[in-house]
Amino acid sequence: MIKFPNPRTEELVGYSAEELATIRFTDLIHPEDTHMVLDRHRRRLKGESLPTTYSFRIINRAGEELWTQLNTVAITWEGRPATLNFLRDITPQRKLEAQLQQSQKMEAIGALAGGVAHDFNNLLTTIIGCSELMMMSIGKDHKLRENLEDIRKAGDRAASLTRQLLAFSRKQILEPKVIDLNDVIPDMDKMLRRLIGEDIDLETSLAPDLGRVEADPGQIEQIIMNLAVNARDAMPRGGKLTMETANVDLDEAYARSHVAVTPGPYVMMAISDSGTGMEVETLANIFDPFFTTKEAGKGTGLGLSTVYGIVKQSNGNIWAYSELGKGTIFKIYLPRVEKGVVEKEEVEATAESLTGSETILVVEDNEMVRDLAQTILQHYGYSVLAAQDGEEAIKVSKEHDGPIDLMLTDVVMPKMSGREVSEHLNALRPDMKVLYMSGYTDNAILHHGVLDREMVFIQKPFTTDSLARKVREVLD
Ligand code: ADP
Ligand code: MG
Repeated sequence: MIKFPNPRTEELVGYSAEELATIRFTDLIHPEDTHMVLDRHRRRLKGESLPTTYSFRIINRAGEELWTQLNTVAITWEGRPATLNFLRDITPQRKLEAQLQQSQKMEAIGALAGGVAHDFNNLLTTIIGCSELMMMSIGKDHKLRENLEDIRKAGDRAASLTRQLLAFSRKQILEPKVIDLNDVIPDMDKMLRRLIGEDIDLETSLAPDLGRVEADPGQIEQIIMNLAVNARDAMPRGGKLTMETANVDLDEAYARSHVAVTPGPYVMMAISDSGTGMEVETLANIFDPFFTTKEAGKGTGLGLSTVYGIVKQSNGNIWAYSELGKGTIFKIYLPRVEKGVVEKEEVEATAESLTGSETILVVEDNEMVRDLAQTILQHYGYSVLAAQDGEEAIKVSKEHDGPIDLMLTDVVMPKMSGREVSEHLNALRPDMKVLYMSGYTDNAILHHGVLDREMVFIQKPFTTDSLARKVREVLD
């Protein structure tokens, strides 16, 4: 029985002092914690010395689960052993701790995934590149052609997985623009309807006067797609998919109770479904790469990881709420910016020839990638000089009498970074253009994965076609 509760206790548990006098304290404890608390209580009454502070969950009158910290002192009451207890509500701290643990876990997996992806990009550049080169040099009816095509296709699939891992680890190269989400969402309407099918209603509720955000439009579309696909999968018998936007100001109080939130003006985008919802255990893991509850072949477990990475890399936050049998809502907050929307640029169609006769200096420490780039460029008619690092590049440049029209350089290399090599050589050869290549966004040239406007960049793994195209673009 609980005797002499103070008013705060009554408030916490939701029962009056009179009611509490008739309730056993153990009835208030979460079933999973009852045994532990009772055991300690008994041992304490027997005179055993135990830590006086510990935490457990209680269920209040409203049925809410609260984390409490108990501070207990053994006393003698009316000649019998009893305890004097102080109960503190630590639910908010617990929630924050859980969020912190979650975000640390994501950091750690992110670092791992990013490292793997980085190494894979070099390997895939070789796999894709060499199979393309071989296909070019053998005839159309060669008996090995089909095998080469299979290698090429597998390489592409691996590259796509690697891209998703990079996205998750926030190492993707973003090209942010000032955009209005209210423009992006209607643009996707047709595609989304096709994606979700006829049994699911699509409803949008877009806030008038929505603020702008600075984000990579392609990546925002990717987020919406991934969330919509999941929503569809959660509504096999149909339902409703709702997309909503709103201006939201997150204040200090909100920031204090949510890890990694800076208070300020945001644009919120919410995507909700009336689907199956999720168990608490599922919800706790949805952003982990390769976490899926779908049968083999149906899910990769990379959809939400990608979404998470993109949102975080765009300085935003994402939260998911779900109720079993009712549905799920994902809320994404992106910082609001006070800038005008950048008008869409027309993409010019380039059908002209990809060949050239200029001189190109390739600087790359990975031998396979260097050889490959050299072979591809020679195939398209260029004269190629090659160097394995910055020092050698400087030496090659000194020894070469004629012009060097372009330097194609890796970003992260031992001794000198690509940027350092380029600064050094540009002082000697001011007309030389520079094209960077990397499988990884790195601070050596990129600030938090965001590309400098004046830098030209090609992402590994590249295909023969994409490299030739980019080189031509830079030279012209
Ligand atoms: P995948 O879709 O390949 O399984 P995701 O990363 O996209 O991988 O999602 C991970 C898991 O999260 C899903 O397998 C599913 O269990 C759960 N999930 C995601 N979105 C929803 C949703 N809208 N409703 C119910 N469960 C969801
Ligand atoms: Mg998915």
